[in-house]
Amino acid sequence: MEVRRRHVQTPANAAGKGSGGGHSKVQASDALPLPIRHTNLLFSALFMASLVYLMRRWREKIRSSTPLHVVGLAEILAIFGLIASLIYLLSFFGIAFVQSVVSSNDEEEDFLPHSKTAAPSQCSLLGPTEVPSEKLPEEDEEIVSMVLGGKMPSYLLESKLGDCRRAAGIRRVALSRMTGRNLEGLPLDGFNYESILGQCCELPIGYVQLPVGIAGPLVLDGRQYYVPMATTEGCLVASTNRGCKAIAESGGAMSMVLRDGMTRAPAVRFPSASRAAELKAFMESPENFDTLSVIFNRSSRFARLQGVHCAIAGRNLYVRFTCSTGDAMGMNMVSKGVQNVLDFLQNDFPDMDVITISGNFCSDKKPAAVNWIEGRGKSVVCEAVIKEEVVKRVLKTNVESLVELNTIKNLAGSAVAGSLGGFNAHASNIVSAIFIATGQDPAQNVESSHCITMLEAINGGRDLHISVTMPSIEVGTVGGGTQLASQAACLDLLGVKGSNVSTPGANARLLATVVAGGVLAGELSLLSAQAAGHLVKSHMKYNRSTKDITKSAA
Ligand code: ADP
Repeated sequence: MEVRRRHVQTPANAAGKGSGGGHSKVQASDALPLPIRHTNLLFSALFMASLVYLMRRWREKIRSSTPLHVVGLAEILAIFGLIASLIYLLSFFGIAFVQSVVSSNDEEEDFLPHSKTAAPSQCSLLGPTEVPSEKLPEEDEEIVSMVLGGKMPSYLLESKLGDCRRAAGIRRVALSRMTGRNLEGLPLDGFNYESILGQCCELPIGYVQLPVGIAGPLVLDGRQYYVPMATTEGCLVASTNRGCKAIAESGGAMSMVLRDGMTRAPAVRFPSASRAAELKAFMESPENFDTLSVIFNRSSRFARLQGVHCAIAGRNLYVRFTCSTGDAMGMNMVSKGVQNVLDFLQNDFPDMDVITISGNFCSDKKPAAVNWIEGRGKSVVCEAVIKEEVVKRVLKTNVESLVELNTIKNLAGSAVAGSLGGFNAHASNIVSAIFIATGQDPAQNVESSHCITMLEAINGGRDLHISVTMPSIEVGTVGGGTQLASQAACLDLLGVKGSNVSTPGANARLLATVVAGGVLAGELSLLSAQAAGHLVKSHMKYNRSTKDITKSAA
């Protein structure tokens, strides 16, 4: 609390008070006829006076044996005053007080520097305090002071104010004053903060701008796609674009979705390993599948249980559920289905102790062999035959060099490195850029980028067969970040925005094939650059820009 008070007294605040015509003097809320401090005092006094008066009256009545329910006008007024002031005081201080107690116990929930002792050292490291110039209406200034003083938890701003843009602005100014840092480069306006409330991001203070480039047309399965890529890496879009060109001029790429199922694996513990084995047998028995499906599928009209696969570690059992999830990436859906089944199992297995709904055998956002082998999300293979002439003219290399490079780098090199699913040149570059542009969960880039790139010479050694096999592309076109305006626009560009009404799941599967197609183009181009020894040269050109746009464009 002391730290916070100290921050309120930063030069920024002091300056604000001085130049602003005295915030300290005029603290009236626009919504109240009196300054908040005076209103608080008034209601506190009313509360005390009513209480004292009523207590006295009741004592007198008890002494004189007068029934308590016989009340005069003065008593009615006092009761009314007591109730009114109680309501006011509780709504004004009660919630904030409880929250401040909770937040001081649970520092993880507070956006302000996580410990009261950490703040000074952190701020002292920040160097001389700048004076944030942002000036707010008086009412908002008052809320900023409450946030800085710990009287208003920052995470409650949206619900208290009922205005997400205003809440973000106030939080941002409070942060600016707390740290002495000017957030000028981080835009606040131009974003719909209502659209992220309770879904995408908490405690917002602005948004990061990312350029979106376009690679294409990517000719895939007989259709053309312009692939949006959000990235700050120079060369990446240009390189993918070149790969798209080589694919298009060779007649296009083909893709297949091999599997489509999201997974979740709770961890449960039994008193003994033999009991854990009993549940494993029950879960994997084909006779029980229909029962489990009915219970699981209640989670959503789109969730359909596909299979259950268990692993045991001593008396701990990991049950990996796989289900189709329509056009949603599906983590929420599958988790709800798993919870239904766990509740059901508790009847027949009362000694089952559910340790966690996610026991890491799922496996979400971590490199894991289970995803590489079994798949997670969409498993996709994508291939193309690049003509010899195109390899020479567009990619500036030859088939033999490419095949040799792929073997030594992507296959042998990754084996030497002990790679898990990393038998590729830079799949994650393309996956991440498309994920960010289309509102996917970027953390799932970990397993979504698992990819083996294969290159072979065909047609007597003249042409190149290239393929990427990606077993766990985790994408959706509904839910999460996909509904935000910019991301939805990128999905729309690909023709996969939202739910596919006639064939639920078709949009998400199509998006997965576009991701794989983009990776195919990216692999083709980067391998070609390396085979031709161009890599360093082109990076120097795009990443160390001379600002000569005409040269770069060329
Ligand atoms: P996730 O499970 O990927 O976290 P959400 O639960 O946030 O996704 O979003 C899925 C929601 O979208 C569900 O409420 C579901 O009923 C709804 N929905 C609408 N159309 C579809 C569709 N075609 N496929 C999947 N879910 C859909």
